[in-house]
Amino acid sequence: AGKNDGKGQYRFFDPTLSSSLRARARLKHDLVDAIEHDQLVLHYQPRVDPRDGRLLSMEALLRWRHPAHGMVPPSEFIPLAEATGLIGRIGQVVIEKACAQVAAWRDAGIPVVPVSINVSARQFRRGAVPRQLAAALERHRLPAALLEVEITESAMMGDHDEILADLAALRAMGIKLHVDDFGTGYSSLSQLQRLKMDVLKVDRAFTAELGKSREGRVFFQAIVSMAHALGMGVVAEGVETREQLAILLELGCSEIQGYLVARPVDGAAMAGLMARRFLLDEDGRVGRSCPR
Ligand code: C2E
Ligand code: MG
Ligand code: MG
Ligand code: MG
Repeated sequence: AGKNDGKGQYRFFDPTLSSSLRARARLKHDLVDAIEHDQLVLHYQPRVDPRDGRLLSMEALLRWRHPAHGMVPPSEFIPLAEATGLIGRIGQVVIEKACAQVAAWRDAGIPVVPVSINVSARQFRRGAVPRQLAAALERHRLPAALLEVEITESAMMGDHDEILADLAALRAMGIKLHVDDFGTGYSSLSQLQRLKMDVLKVDRAFTAELGKSREGRVFFQAIVSMAHALGMGVVAEGVETREQLAILLELGCSEIQGYLVARPVDGAAMAGLMARRFLLDEDGRVGRSCPR
């Protein structure tokens, strides 16, 4: 059974139980059930241009609609899925659901933007990810430009030959590659360039420093300059305040994501946001009207 962690969030996967083989076996069994009974759902979070609030893309974020425990966040089950190898099947579900959703919107006449999916290092096995993505795109008659792949900086590290080969294959297909949680790992400039990553998604820990310390701003500025010098885009993750937005505009950050823009929402709600302008203030203006 789960317990409440006191922050109003239900913790289904108690970390103190995770070492217990029986608890892990039970959770794994439940996860297999979740796959088979279609309990995994994608929510979507907009990514927008901070200058005009225009929707550029949306990130698909996985949730487990558990019959007894409600919506379980990915932090509660992705680690176990990775440790047990179930992430392969879950990753396939995510790819299929994301493509099916975009195709459904397109078929309903809704102007679609690309969707980013998160891929774990553990999913890269013998070309499975490029193969699954190619098959899903084909099945739903979608152009590769409507898919983006996010891989964490730490997953990219080291010389996992399989990951490098798969990233090259995805690039060759025309799928944009994003480095997720940038700043928390140890990638070198040469690695970023060799892997030809398209976009750096700066971890929200760095966004949180904006407006708090001069160092935070200087550090962020350095990332933006470096990314632009390497021909990469920059996304600020976890933008929560108008002050952070104003600083990011000054730094020339080209894309932002975070609760200030919108929280992740289900597919039905996302459909209603698709044609919308984000970040509007009471005067209906974006960006320029932000306090400094
Ligand atoms: P991520 O890819 O870095 O996703 C961003 C996380 O930050 C999401 O949490 C999102 O809800 C949250 N977030 C967005 N804006 C804000 C903000 O302004 N403030 C704060 N405090 N948080 C914000 P979520 O959905 O719980 O996902 C957590 C992580 O789980 C993701 O981090 C990603 O690493 C992983 N994940 C999610 N979906 C999948 C998936 O389909 N496959 C895999 N392999 N991993 C996934
Ligand atoms: Mg991500
Ligand atoms: Mg991230
Ligand atoms: Mg993360």
